[in-house]
Amino acid sequence: MSGAILNRRRLRVVEMFGPTLQGEGPAAGCPAVFVRLADCNHACGPCDTRYSWDWKTYDRATETRYAAPQAVSSWVLARAPKLVVVTGGEPLLQQEALIPIAEELAANGKIVEIETNGTIVPYPELTTHVNRFVVSPKLTSMFDAPLSRRIKPDALVAFTETGKAVFKFVLANRADVDAVAGLQEAHGLAPIWVMPQATSQQDVLDGMRDLAEVAVEHGWNLSPRLHILLWGDQRGR
Ligand code: SF4
Repeated sequence: MSGAILNRRRLRVVEMFGPTLQGEGPAAGCPAVFVRLADCNHACGPCDTRYSWDWKTYDRATETRYAAPQAVSSWVLARAPKLVVVTGGEPLLQQEALIPIAEELAANGKIVEIETNGTIVPYPELTTHVNRFVVSPKLTSMFDAPLSRRIKPDALVAFTETGKAVFKFVLANRADVDAVAGLQEAHGLAPIWVMPQATSQQDVLDGMRDLAEVAVEHGWNLSPRLHILLWGDQRGR
């Protein structure tokens, strides 16, 4: 792909950081770099990255900057970890500009993981270069909005059909367990990771203990929030 094409569309980026460790989901514990993109189509109360989308509280001009796809690719390729986590915000809001980045990174042997809230159908041109979508539909304890706003069945089907999707849920209470089981049954979601809604080390540990039996009972995977256990709620880790 030519440099001219690579630079045609810019991304609104919040931060790029690493090497560090992926803290959540199937790649938890793996060395990784992170690319966090701006803006989100949700407004979750307990969101721990509000600085990526909450422009009533944070200044968008201060928190974000434009970056050419080539600059993002070069930054990632200059770092050792094979795993690249593209996150947000909701990164698929900028999926067209992500295509040349994912293509370049995949061509250079990187593993491209995209974290998404699962409401936007991924383009096939992007999916081709992605190794894994970590799809995290929001329950009411995260995002107090109608089901039709939080859960997009057509998008969930599209992610499942990529053959590259895993589903990750943040749980805060017993009702959330039933909600995940209901979504699993209604949309055939698999495999599933669950993790506690927690931003302190003690709350992560307590939440994981609470979820352990539930995970075993339902055949779900239990995810830590390793970055919090290791470094607290520190930004950029
Ligand atoms: S979908 Fe994710 S990034 Fe967006 S508001 Fe919810 S928790 Fe935050």
